[in-house]
Amino acid sequence: MTSDNHTHSRGLQQDARAWAHFTGCNYTAAMRQMQDPLAQGLLGDRISARHLIATLDDHAMVGQVGDDFVLGENGFNADTQWRFNHKDDYVQLALITEMLRMFTPLPGTESPEIGSYSLKHTAEAFLKGTPAHYVTNGRLIWAAAALGLPIAEYNSDGGPNLRIGIPEHEHDYVYRMVRAGLERPQGHHYRPPGYEHLRTALAQCAAGEPVADRWVRPAPAVEDPAPFHDWLIAQADRDEPIGDFASDYAEGIRTSAHRIARTPDELVLLLNELSHSSGAWDAAREVIGEWLSRMSPSPGIRTIGTSGQVEEVGGYGAGRGNMERREYRCPCGDGRIVEEHDNIPGFREHGHWIECDKCRAEWRFLSGRSVYDWALEPVF
Ligand SMILES: [Zn+2]
Repeated sequence: MTSDNHTHSRGLQQDARAWAHFTGCNYTAAMRQMQDPLAQGLLGDRISARHLIATLDDHAMVGQVGDDFVLGENGFNADTQWRFNHKDDYVQLALITEMLRMFTPLPGTESPEIGSYSLKHTAEAFLKGTPAHYVTNGRLIWAAAALGLPIAEYNSDGGPNLRIGIPEHEHDYVYRMVRAGLERPQGHHYRPPGYEHLRTALAQCAAGEPVADRWVRPAPAVEDPAPFHDWLIAQADRDEPIGDFASDYAEGIRTSAHRIARTPDELVLLLNELSHSSGAWDAAREVIGEWLSRMSPSPGIRTIGTSGQVEEVGGYGAGRGNMERREYRCPCGDGRIVEEHDNIPGFREHGHWIECDKCRAEWRFLSGRSVYDWALEPVF
């Protein structure tokens, strides 16, 4: 046995002894929980049972005062003692801790927003199929306190619910991913950093497989610059269709209803996928027109390619060559843009056209660009 293993098993023994004493079960039952694969630390170090117990003694807000407990099964200041089942009570707390760990820790400058009672429901839905499929308000707060997350009272009203410091957007994302009957997020910009890893680890545990890699919390993301997105969000206050469009877009980002459009091309692609009114489409064309007019020369927009083929043409007339045909989606998505090249010596011809009546009226090719290098701009 290596010294690390020795330290680890000594830690488990001390934890088992402490947990057995604290919850009133026997050592063997407590040890079985300490060794449960779900409690070995999925997004970080194993949460120590002694630390959990100490939290109820020492924590500045939920630690006990004199001989009086402050936190119980129903929450803060609720007069309900803990009920331990001696079977998986520790494993439950470990799982709730993991669930809370997947979020980005809230900066100390921001005040906690997420109510423990709604977070408890999110935890239950996320941890469905595990021993923590039922989570009490008190245990949710306990795990958050043990993890050192910021915690605050609601208006000091003495109620059982507290506010927990995890990012609201990330919570909304998880809530909508796991709660039954809700429309799932289509944009993943607010997915908590540990979300995928924890889902995978839980599935591996459920399948009896070892949990593969250790998770490393990513450094705070340095966002790629997205000047078009930033500019669009900034138009939300305008009292005209562009303003309405921009504020709907901002709302869709806030609620993860759709992803970020970093460029006008991505906005067109996004609108191809979302249902929208013709008014919204016209406003989007105005948005794109205004954005392009700010640049000189205008880069125009490109749409996605849908097919391309090259046919070799040989030995006939002037010599060998090929004929190329490429197709792209038209901006509205119902038709296409076609690009053709006859690369045959003596018969060189290049052409492109829009095969969609609606888009032909609404867009035109930028002048001064080669056929290969085409780009569109809106027509008004
Ligand atoms: Zn079209």
